[in-house]
Amino acid sequence: MSERRNVQARAGEARAGLVVMKFGGTSVEDAKAMLRTAAIVRGRRERGLSPVVVVSAMAKVTDQLLAAAAAAGRGDKTGALAIAARLRNRHIETASDLLCGEIFAGTETAIRAEFDALDDLLRGIAAVGELTPRTSDNVVSFGERLSSQMVAAAFEQNGLNGVHVDARTCIITDAHYGKAIPHEAHIEAKLAELVLPLVERGLTPVMGGFIGATEKGITTTLGRGGSDFTAALVGGGLHAGAIEIWTDVNGIMTTDPRICPDALRVKTISFEEAAELAYFGAKVLHPATILPAVQKSIPVWVLNSRNAENEGTKITAMAPPCASPFKSIAAKKGLTIIDVVASRMLMTHGYLKAVFDVFDKYHCAIDMVSTSEVSISVTVDSNERLPEICAELDKIADVKLEGSKALICMVGEDIRGRSGISGRMFSAIRHINVRMISQGASEINMSFMIEQSDVEEAIRSLHAEFFANPDPTVFDTEARVVAAKA
Ligand code: ADP
Ligand code: ASP
Ligand code: MG
Repeated sequence: MSERRNVQARAGEARAGLVVMKFGGTSVEDAKAMLRTAAIVRGRRERGLSPVVVVSAMAKVTDQLLAAAAAAGRGDKTGALAIAARLRNRHIETASDLLCGEIFAGTETAIRAEFDALDDLLRGIAAVGELTPRTSDNVVSFGERLSSQMVAAAFEQNGLNGVHVDARTCIITDAHYGKAIPHEAHIEAKLAELVLPLVERGLTPVMGGFIGATEKGITTTLGRGGSDFTAALVGGGLHAGAIEIWTDVNGIMTTDPRICPDALRVKTISFEEAAELAYFGAKVLHPATILPAVQKSIPVWVLNSRNAENEGTKITAMAPPCASPFKSIAAKKGLTIIDVVASRMLMTHGYLKAVFDVFDKYHCAIDMVSTSEVSISVTVDSNERLPEICAELDKIADVKLEGSKALICMVGEDIRGRSGISGRMFSAIRHINVRMISQGASEINMSFMIEQSDVEEAIRSLHAEFFANPDPTVFDTEARVVAAKA
């Protein structure tokens, strides 16, 4: 019962009726969650919108697939196959709770075929005893391949005209396994060819996030949390009217609610602020999510699939002025500080370049830098290449490493041109040892490095200082009133 939908757009204009809806792992964690997801999508269709749906793997599946891949890579075939068997049972049980009749039979056959292929792959990896980034991407891709087929079947069964699209036919990337770079022009062409006609026929395309393929068809992934990125690529490529990121919290909050239970929902936040927060550790969004949306000025919403009535957070080009200097506090753990001290001379012309060239050579991203007359301190979060990086730096300087550090990043457009904020900030955490400070690199963020073990205490102290009397035009203060009454 497909009804034709007109989602044409004039050149350069958005398809206002087309909405890309991304559901994270907890929003598809079991049959009940998948049915909640179906109900949310139905709501959008009933409003006359045309959804294109992107789903993550069922909650925790990606971690388990990585564990299976690692076991196989160590030659532990039995361990790897045992993980795959547990995953097989979970998926089939979910499908049988969710589906019935022919749709169940067809989906069960498809799930079994996927798991047979996964078992073969794991046996192959175990036989060789080596896991390459390319095979790891192949193993981990099964999570989204499975969840997307199941959700598409659930939509079909529930009258939403669900149709599965293998993301690897549209999300074309380079061959940088584990963190592939998408080819946006190519993706746009593929979406126009393969997905848009489905939407025009009144169908609801469902595709897995996170996964893609090279032009030669080899499976790749976009990095952990990458389904948000897929949603943005699909939204950008289809010139959608909106992108919705459905997750397990009411939106972007003033900090991670797991650390600070009295965190408040931010009603509206700018693209720039959200991108900064994501980059500096707010897990609620993948760092690259915002970019394709910004380029095409597509509004992004962060919404709660367990509380669909809540209005969520709107991410827009311009944030409304706010009485609070900050919108949110993020923390990035697992960082290492590298102190590079010029041993033989003071820093001379070309010294900084020589140091940064080493990081560049190993594609190692630096989060923060501070320099003095003879030393440079940098913080990095990818540790695999650190031994090689340090060996090279050792040739030009004395090098010291300190692990288990964390970066706290306070973000808000309204810190621009205000005085006294850093005084308040450091006074709130005066009992905590601060290792490095950065302010002004971006006009909307103030960040500093501390011991990882101090993160929770620092965030709670800063939250109490800056969000005790929040501006009700920007923050959902009613949530606090309700919590106080409960
Ligand atoms: P999904 O599986 O839906 O992608 P994630 O686990 O990746 O969900 O992201 C949602 C989680 O992000 C929340 O449960 C929350 O604990 C965490 N989080 C961290 N910082 C924030 C923040 N500032 N606002 C909201 N959630 C945050
Ligand atoms: N399933 C992938 C992960 O856990 C991608 C995602 O959920 O965004 O990282
Ligand atoms: Mg996520």
